[in-house]
Amino acid sequence: MSHAALPTASRFTGRTVLIADDDEVTRTLLSRMLTALGVGTILVARDGDEAIAQLNGPAQAADMILCDLKMPGMDGIEALRHLAYRNSRAAIVVVSGAEPKLLATVRMLADARGLRLLGALRKPIRRDSLESLLDRLDEPLPTRPAQGTVPIKPDELDRGIRDGEIVPHYQPKVALSDRAVLGVEALVRWSHPKLGLLGPGSFIAAAEDGKLMDPLSDAVLAKAIAQAGQWRRSWAEIGVAVNMSVSGLCRLDLPERIASLCAAHGVMPEQVTIEVTETGLIHDIATVFDVITRLGLLGITLSIDDFGTGYSTLQQLVRLPFGELKLDQSFVRDAAEDARVRIVLESNVELARRLDLKIVGEGIETDSQWQMLSDLGCDVGQGYWIAKPMDCAELVAWSQAWLAGRAVA
Ligand code: C2E
Ligand code: MG
Ligand code: MG
Repeated sequence: MSHAALPTASRFTGRTVLIADDDEVTRTLLSRMLTALGVGTILVARDGDEAIAQLNGPAQAADMILCDLKMPGMDGIEALRHLAYRNSRAAIVVVSGAEPKLLATVRMLADARGLRLLGALRKPIRRDSLESLLDRLDEPLPTRPAQGTVPIKPDELDRGIRDGEIVPHYQPKVALSDRAVLGVEALVRWSHPKLGLLGPGSFIAAAEDGKLMDPLSDAVLAKAIAQAGQWRRSWAEIGVAVNMSVSGLCRLDLPERIASLCAAHGVMPEQVTIEVTETGLIHDIATVFDVITRLGLLGITLSIDDFGTGYSTLQQLVRLPFGELKLDQSFVRDAAEDARVRIVLESNVELARRLDLKIVGEGIETDSQWQMLSDLGCDVGQGYWIAKPMDCAELVAWSQAWLAGRAVA
């Protein structure tokens, strides 16, 4: 850095700090302060994508990341998710003019992802605040929850997709009123020849890095719709739900692609649900609206996944032809113990009912959670108490046992 002369023998000489901020003035200010404090290596990224690129390269061993929450491209919240996928041990400092309430949410999110959030730097940024945060780098690291993630390179995932190793597992969605099996949710799994069966947490970051989300979604869609056709012929006409992030809905040919898969496998479009999760900001809202509307016209059910966890843009999507809302499993889990969570859950159920949406409670792990959702007026339940995700061969036997009144988890 050329902004200031390096003071000799600073206690921060061995430190590497990455600045991720889209505002040039803030970047310059921060790097000047870090230089003046004697930080040995200062790396700079202008948005989340550049930050991830840095983290794959020179910033791999960063001690601290100064991260803006609002950036174009990938925002700070998404960047946190990527850090978690990489098992990052860097201390994260949020640089923001944001409300303390928002910062409290970011702290909860970072904790949930096992990240080390050191604190926040509020604007205007003061050098002594930055210095005391750098001093705190010496604090002992908290233990992190096991993530079970395996670092996967995009090339390897690309090979796996091409070799047909993507195999969805299926988790039943059942009626809370009479336990009827209404359908299944396809959850992506990778049957890796050496590493065994991998869940999405192990390879979604690689898919995003390698721009492989579309081929991955295509593999899941094709397998899930083919499987629904097979079940229709040999067992029952049950629904199949496939997950897609909002950015996956930026492909104008998606409705036609799904329609032709349905035609090829003898599946009614009405059997298909797309569960939409919101990850990050929507860049091309017009295309997303166009695709969602045409999916609705085809008869495909659109479902709002993880409701209650996203941020406000989903509120906009409520104006679109969604037919289902999935209450996030964290609400289902916490509502019994926390009266405030219960109020949020109740008001989300009320909201969904008034919008005439089918309400799915996910993450049901106990019979009392089942009972609570049933009392609240939810229509559909999903969770380990009913069944864990399983491969296609297990589903028919499970359903017989389930309908015979035995919950096989
Ligand atoms: P999701 O769509 O909300 O799926 C539910 C997740 O919760 C699944 O994790 C499921 O295995 C897990 N789950 C189900 N019941 C319970 C329960 O009772 N307790 C607990 N603790 N967990 C339960 P999974 O399979 O690891 O998937 C995680 C997320 O990855 C999914 O969340 C979804 O957002 C995403 N995902 C999965 N498959 C795909 C895919 O094909 N495409 C895309 N774009 N995303 C996918
Ligand atoms: Mg889902
Ligand atoms: Mg969900």
